[in-house]
Amino acid sequence: MVAGETPHPYPSPYGRGNWYADTAGDFPDLPSLEGDASADVCIVGAGFTGLGAAMALGSRAIVLEADRIGAAATGRNGGQVHTGHRRDQAWLEKTVGAEDALALWRLAEDARAHFAALVAAIDCDWRPGLIHARHKPGGEAEDAAHVARMAERYGYDLLDLIDDQALARELGTDVYFGGVRDRGGGHVHPLKLALGMAARAGAAGVVLHERTRAQRWRREGGRIVVETPGGRVTCDQLILTGDGALDPLAGAARARVMPINNFIAVTAPLGDRADEILRSGAAASDSRFVVNYFRKTPDGRLLFGGGESYGTGFPRDIAGLVRRNLAKIYPRLADVPITHAWGGTLGVTRTRMPVVAEVAPGVRIASGYSGQGLMLAPHVGKLLADAALGQAAPIALLSRVPTPPFPGGRLLRWPLTVAGLSWYALRDRF
Ligand SMILES: Cc1cc2nc3c(=O)[nH]c(=O)nc-3n(C[C@H](O)[C@H](O)[C@H](O)COP(=O)(O)OP(=O)(O)OC[C@H]3O[C@@H](n4cnc5c(N)ncnc54)[C@H](O)[C@@H]3O)c2cc1C
Repeated sequence: MVAGETPHPYPSPYGRGNWYADTAGDFPDLPSLEGDASADVCIVGAGFTGLGAAMALGSRAIVLEADRIGAAATGRNGGQVHTGHRRDQAWLEKTVGAEDALALWRLAEDARAHFAALVAAIDCDWRPGLIHARHKPGGEAEDAAHVARMAERYGYDLLDLIDDQALARELGTDVYFGGVRDRGGGHVHPLKLALGMAARAGAAGVVLHERTRAQRWRREGGRIVVETPGGRVTCDQLILTGDGALDPLAGAARARVMPINNFIAVTAPLGDRADEILRSGAAASDSRFVVNYFRKTPDGRLLFGGGESYGTGFPRDIAGLVRRNLAKIYPRLADVPITHAWGGTLGVTRTRMPVVAEVAPGVRIASGYSGQGLMLAPHVGKLLADAALGQAAPIALLSRVPTPPFPGGRLLRWPLTVAGLSWYALRDRF
């Protein structure tokens, strides 16, 4: 390892026990970069953001991926596809004003259309329907106001209120107090989607390199040179991605994104018991600060995510950790065999909105989707690509959303913020 380089946080591609890796089909095995190469745009990272950019750029792009396609958050996530932004429109209106909030909503709707085209073209087990369940009593009025605001002000009429009894029937558990169904959201097999995007990018002329870490970049003769262990790419524009693993290459912007670990387990097929839960086939997530999220796989397993840790390692017994949360939602499944369990690292920001910025002339980053990047990231990648080609792209709009640095800067942010986050997590219990 080069002095000063951060070790890659994942011990093996996709993590041990990753159900997506076991069910995604054939993997490409792409060569690492050896020697010199040149492209209009160099993209660092082959997750949803980098792949969205690559598909938009075609033969003008080279992608450098430190690990395998989708090996970080992209190939490890809950597969829950949320519409809109991580913060609701009411928050955006207060924070950036009505005009930018409307423009951000339109951007999110463009992301939805982009995503719909991707899942129509790529076999990735797409299934519509996403339910937001309230874990505490109260909150009906806020949910009703949200549904009404989205229909009246934004013309989004795909949200329905669900009362506690209908929700209990739908989910097969009575622990929740009602919620909202979003017919525009849904769920997918994220690694199948990422591999399909990589295949399409390759077919469009993108050169993709796996196991090729970008180590540093510099300017030389009016161009940008990106160095890797085996070679270098000379380019005019650089796109840096890495949701929870934003590299030192991104400079000061890293202080705005905190890596957090989150965990998922998949049960053995539930047989007839699968019919008793998540009856419509929608996915669900709840309103806890440390969210529980769950859905059924096409072969009738329960894929359940929840639990967090802060720091560079994952707990030894991930299945046990997730089982504790699963058993609180589905006591009758407390003893069901768990066949797969893995962890992943996502990037969160203080406002939970992503950092999207031009950090130096021709160098753009996107990071910190705060657990909601599946629908947004491919489109943000496309917008970064458009901006790299000098086309009008609403990057400045995204950059205007505040994402201040974490207190304590890069070194002290973990201890200080973990104290804060743990307090919020504790609050869920009351
Ligand atoms: C456990 C978990 C559950 C989640 N659940 C959901 C969910 O249900 N719904 C949702 O919307 N979002 C979810 N997310 C978040 C979502 O996965 C991310 O927002 C999204 O995948 C971000 O994609 P990305 O391409 O920006 O980043 P990443 O997927 O992190 O990809 C970045 C890539 O860059 C590579 N890289 C980094 N540095 C370098 C370098 N120097 N050189 C070369 N390559 C480099 C990494 O290896 C990585 O492959 C979850 C995340 C996790 C971890």
